[in-house]
Amino acid sequence: MDAPFWNKPVETLSRADLAAHQLAHLRSTIVQALKTPFYRERLPKTGIGDPGAIASPGDLRRIPFTTKDDLRRAYPNGLLAVDPEAVVRIHTSSGTTGTPTVIHHTAADIDCWADLAIRSIVATGVTRRDVFQNMMTYGLFTGGLGLHYAAERFGMMVIPAGSGNTKRQIKLMKDFGTTVVHSVPSYLLHFNTVLEQEGVRRADLRLSKAFLGAEPHSENTRRKIEELLHIDGYNSYGLSEMNGPGVAFECVHKTGMHVWEDAYLVEVIDPETLEPVIDGEEGELVFTTLRRQATPLLRYRTRDLARFIPEPCACGRTHRRLDRIKGRTDDMLIINGVNVYPSQIETILMRTAGIGANYLIVLEKQDSLDKVIVKTEVTAERFAGEFHALEELKCSLRSQIKTEILINPAIELHEPGTLPVSEGKAKRVVDQRPEF
Ligand code: ADP
Ligand code: ZN
Repeated sequence: MDAPFWNKPVETLSRADLAAHQLAHLRSTIVQALKTPFYRERLPKTGIGDPGAIASPGDLRRIPFTTKDDLRRAYPNGLLAVDPEAVVRIHTSSGTTGTPTVIHHTAADIDCWADLAIRSIVATGVTRRDVFQNMMTYGLFTGGLGLHYAAERFGMMVIPAGSGNTKRQIKLMKDFGTTVVHSVPSYLLHFNTVLEQEGVRRADLRLSKAFLGAEPHSENTRRKIEELLHIDGYNSYGLSEMNGPGVAFECVHKTGMHVWEDAYLVEVIDPETLEPVIDGEEGELVFTTLRRQATPLLRYRTRDLARFIPEPCACGRTHRRLDRIKGRTDDMLIINGVNVYPSQIETILMRTAGIGANYLIVLEKQDSLDKVIVKTEVTAERFAGEFHALEELKCSLRSQIKTEILINPAIELHEPGTLPVSEGKAKRVVDQRPEF
């Protein structure tokens, strides 16, 4: 398999050279951080009054963490390191877990981001002849403009469709011969349901690849998307605090996402003890920007859980791979005392034949016990089939989920296209338990 590169010298830099680059850029990031009101207040108190305090990579751990709440408190300009006139754009997070956070960018920051994002998409094997339909929301959310700029600068034709309006998406795809899409995985599954309802044959489309990002999804969901749409799906991880898409991306081998370590210093920590985990173990990702001017961030706690894949990738890139993101620490549900991640339930649903595109996990309190109701769409075929086949499906799901999460769920099967769909990130959990 070919492994195309955008910036081969950097993408294949030796680990020793990468480490030296990281140390030098960590120091310049500290210089930059000390220009912001937030870090100017915080860093000297911890003995990091100048970049000389960082003599070796191990000194990184002397720097205090930065949290999402810190960013919220610093809103709007507390983390700005440059003259406001040098800022050319702002973006915010989606606000999934509260007030959005803001990140400022200079022109050089936007250039650097576009470069990282081009590296990312080129690693999947796209060429300038591809036609790119961006089905992510445009605006303050980074999913839209982030890859838009990259694809355009690389030289693909870009269709800035934005999210939603599925029938128009299909028409654009047919009329302009779209070959690559960028979408949240949940929307692409819904998109496929509409394709089927509209009677569009797969052969009417030229689609061959999808960049899948912005929300947790299981390997089984990727496979399902690939099989239904006859395409290759590439996992893309990004967060607005680290620019947006283009932080970590899968290459043609689709075995984990290369994180661009010349631009980001990544640590994996135990979220309880805050100590680094052993290489290859799962923990919370902590990011330090190495190249950003306007909003330098030091040891930013993402709350995202993942692990590094220690083995090198067959493509030859030296930048390490992150395994699929399991979810955020705050996605964890405690159900009758048992810790459950929605992704555990998704993995079961998406590997089961007859299950459709969309699902919802509802939590209720009955007497003093928590009750889990898993509502899932089934395929049109299964829905029109025999009653006893649906009952069997329910039984099988119930027992598989019970084995995985140790709780006996109620299962509700729904007709295709009837559960609520979100155009952006899917909302999978409705917690109706009373708060204490
Ligand atoms: P918010 O933090 O408000 O959701 P962002 O738009 O910055 O706003 O979203 C970034 C977050 O989305 C990440 O921190 C992560 O939780 C999630 N995310 C992004 N890409 C992926 C991915 N490929 N797999 C799993 N989760 C992802
Ligand atoms: Zn690779």
